[in-house]
Amino acid sequence: MTDIDQASDWLYNAKKVLIFTGAGVSAESGIPTFRDQGGLWAGFSAADLASLTGFDKDPCQVWAWYEMRRQRVRQAEPNAAHRAVATYAKERPGVSVITQNVDDLHQRAAVAAGDDDPTIISYHGSLFRMRCRRCSLPGDMPHVIDTTSRDTLPTCRQCGKFMRPDITWFGEAIHRKVADDSDQLSSRADVCLVIGTSLEVYPAAFIPKQVLAHGGHVIEINPEPETFAHPEVVQLRGTACEFVPDVLRDTRYARVAP
Ligand code: NAD
Repeated sequence: MTDIDQASDWLYNAKKVLIFTGAGVSAESGIPTFRDQGGLWAGFSAADLASLTGFDKDPCQVWAWYEMRRQRVRQAEPNAAHRAVATYAKERPGVSVITQNVDDLHQRAAVAAGDDDPTIISYHGSLFRMRCRRCSLPGDMPHVIDTTSRDTLPTCRQCGKFMRPDITWFGEAIHRKVADDSDQLSSRADVCLVIGTSLEVYPAAFIPKQVLAHGGHVIEINPEPETFAHPEVVQLRGTACEFVPDVLRDTRYARVAP
């Protein structure tokens, strides 16, 4: 049996499918990944841009980096892989999506597919949400944030402290509900389709491992050889847009009722 036949076979027979994505699924929409050449970290220190210490030291620089990313995402469109995931999740029962991405491309693809209330877990938060750095009160994100001085940064309407991006930074815990929901999904999934992630960031990288630990299968789509060698893992070497639409179109209907 070829790898793609094996992947299709697992998907056909699954009752519950978990789709787990990383920066690679958005690469073909023009959003750079972190670790690829020319990726977002190039020229910047991750510790300065994605940590509370960095934010407290220079909130203008951190907000400017997130503003640059937010504007870039706004100009991007969901690609064929996002669209295929959205259609699949809408048409087939028992499908959930967890993304490590902070862009909104899965959500926009879901709405375009006619799914107004998609279940997509944004594991690391979102570029389009903010909360208070001190009391965590959420706030409405302005269309544009003026990052030229501390005086123009958004502040909390309750306690007056700076607002911060609602993104889980290095050294911070995943939101409790997100972690609990993800745990539940990964312990129940028969198949985890892993798209475009280096699996280097924890605890996110435990998700496919947890599916394996519960007796499920993993299908990995990535152009680079990753280090996920396991008898229950099939690796499809190619980009998200090359593989995801075909793999999901052909297994749109489950053989087993969910
Ligand atoms: P990563 O940069 O560590 O890894 C990206 C992976 O995608 C690599 O394994 C690479 O081989 C693969 N890839 C590159 N092009 C691809 C393509 N066209 N199709 C399929 N795969 C492709 O990113 P990560 O694993 O997601 O983890 C790091 C963190 O990066 C996450 O926490 C995430 O929040 C953050 N991030 C998010 C975005 C975004 O929201 N779009 C962008 C960059 C980073």
